[in-house]
Amino acid sequence: MAKEPLIDREACIGCGLCADNVPNVFRMADDGKAECHDPKGAPEEEIGKNAIDVCPVACIRWKE
Ligand code: SF4
Repeated sequence: MAKEPLIDREACIGCGLCADNVPNVFRMADDGKAECHDPKGAPEEEIGKNAIDVCPVACIRWKE
């Protein structure tokens, strides 16, 4: 089963990096924080490298 990313929205500072880098998976919600609109919208490697690894507050992780 493919891994799915999960955002800790409490911790998200709304920098927009994940949504800019992987727009098929992440987008900015009305409250100014990121949300995951399609967990399977991009390959795991891309999500890891361009979102999880670069989030400045490390609030994106793989769902258990
Ligand atoms: S990269 Fe992290 S802090 Fe920035 S918008 Fe995405 S989840 Fe929030």
